[in-house]
Amino acid sequence: MNTNFVIAIDGYSSCGKSTLAKALAKNLNFIYVDSGSMYRAVTLYFLRNKVDIQDQQQVENALKDIHLNFNSRDYETHIILNNEEVSAEIRQMPVSKNVSAVSAIKQVRHEMVKQQQRMGKSKNIVMDGRDIGTAVFKNAQLKLFMTADPKIRAERRYKELIEKGEDITLHEIFENIANRDYQDTTRTESPLVRAGDAVILDNTNLTPEQQLNFALDKVNALRKQA
Ligand code: C5P
Repeated sequence: MNTNFVIAIDGYSSCGKSTLAKALAKNLNFIYVDSGSMYRAVTLYFLRNKVDIQDQQQVENALKDIHLNFNSRDYETHIILNNEEVSAEIRQMPVSKNVSAVSAIKQVRHEMVKQQQRMGKSKNIVMDGRDIGTAVFKNAQLKLFMTADPKIRAERRYKELIEKGEDITLHEIFENIANRDYQDTTRTESPLVRAGDAVILDNTNLTPEQQLNFALDKVNALRKQA
């Protein structure tokens, strides 16, 4: 029997999924995997190599040349694309603008889901994304579905990017978030949708600490039942 504990966190763009996932992983000493960073790294590769996403053969060939790894020296995401750490570049606008189109491609999803399932095999893991509770780990012990007011989400992300020195406007971020939510919820392949057994966490008015406590209470209750 598999006794590893899996926490699946899904939700809209810039909802604070990774902040909560990291805090949970740290607190529980679980592995943390940011699945969005994998779709972002694939997108970066496609952009750099001018892969035509309408051309199935080009997409398949490119996927064979993409090797993703995580350097887990802390609870931050350090993603390695073919031996190069691309963690900063994948957060920039060119990738953010194209990632939802790339992640709607069936072959891309197939490959990423396969790799994600391998990472979670027999390990205690927290993974965040869009299809973790509905496709990657359908049997996760705890599923959270995160949401928040879109304006608040844009403001939070704006602050974060400005602090990192990005030259960007609040409007651009708001548009990007709205576009990605639209594309992610309307695509054919594993669209973003709440799993029937996922607990909704609307964090519009919650601090990161309150969110962590909410999730830890759920984990503790589940562990007591087991
Ligand atoms: O989580 P993050 O916002 O970095 O994800 C970037 C994009 O990657 C999402 O907007 C979505 O298009 C895609 N994604 C996905 N499935 C996941 C994680 C991310 O389609 N599990």
